[in-house]
Amino acid sequence: MSENMLFVFIAAVLGLLIGSFLNVVIYRLPIMMERAWRREARALLAQAADAADEAVFNLMTPPSACPQCKAPVKPWQNIPVISYLLLRGRCHNCRTAIPWRYPAVELLTGLAFAAVVWQWGWNTTGWFGLAFTAVLVALTFIDMDTQLLPDQLTLPLVWLGLLFNLHTGFVPLPQAIWGAVLGYLSLWSLFWIFKLVTGKDGMGYGDFKLLAALGAWLGASTLPVIILMAALVGIVASIVLKVARGQPMAFGPALAIAGWLVFVANGPIQQAIHWWLGKSGLL
Ligand SMILES: [Zn+2]
Repeated sequence: MSENMLFVFIAAVLGLLIGSFLNVVIYRLPIMMERAWRREARALLAQAADAADEAVFNLMTPPSACPQCKAPVKPWQNIPVISYLLLRGRCHNCRTAIPWRYPAVELLTGLAFAAVVWQWGWNTTGWFGLAFTAVLVALTFIDMDTQLLPDQLTLPLVWLGLLFNLHTGFVPLPQAIWGAVLGYLSLWSLFWIFKLVTGKDGMGYGDFKLLAALGAWLGASTLPVIILMAALVGIVASIVLKVARGQPMAFGPALAIAGWLVFVANGPIQQAIHWWLGKSGLL
């Protein structure tokens, strides 16, 4: 096995482990946010505190347990994918089915990590790319579940993208800064045009911050491609999922997928666009 393939393999294993942690983030972060909002609302309205909202609940506490029988998850039951297979997808204690999405998120993160190291290698760009991937996976599933893109994830992703492009990275720093600014403003303007014309909210503010983050990572010049690809992904997904009309479309997952694809396959994507523009006589 060549050294390169070894690093791709290590990245895949690391991705499985990080994916396991992301499952916790995806499940707990929205609950943590909701509890915080309820505490703040009660404090603002001078209402008595609610014991359930005051209990310690974060990414570490309480330890993982079966939601049905409360049996604690033992370390050997926490091995990504393997434990799910060994347990045949059921709680060891009460046999309640464990959602297949847990091993799916682990596998997806493992494959995505492998793809990043395959493309960029085991270096600074690769490491930044793994962080980029992990945050995008968390944002995708949180948005699918709750229609929220938490500031706790989108805003650090903006700063991290600017840092990434400070020395080496994906684009020169001025491109990254313009990417962050124009990423936010482009969807923000679209939101207001749509709202003035239809009177409806077509997107959430989280989408603007996510596109600002993608702009910070990938540069302003990639924004049209990201929006176009996200629209295609979104249209296909809403046909497949038969999303009910009138509901705001969860645009976050489509943006995250489009941005990640540009990060790992910018060359082929640019070639495909040039080919298509040439073919359609626009170039
Ligand atoms: Zn159980």
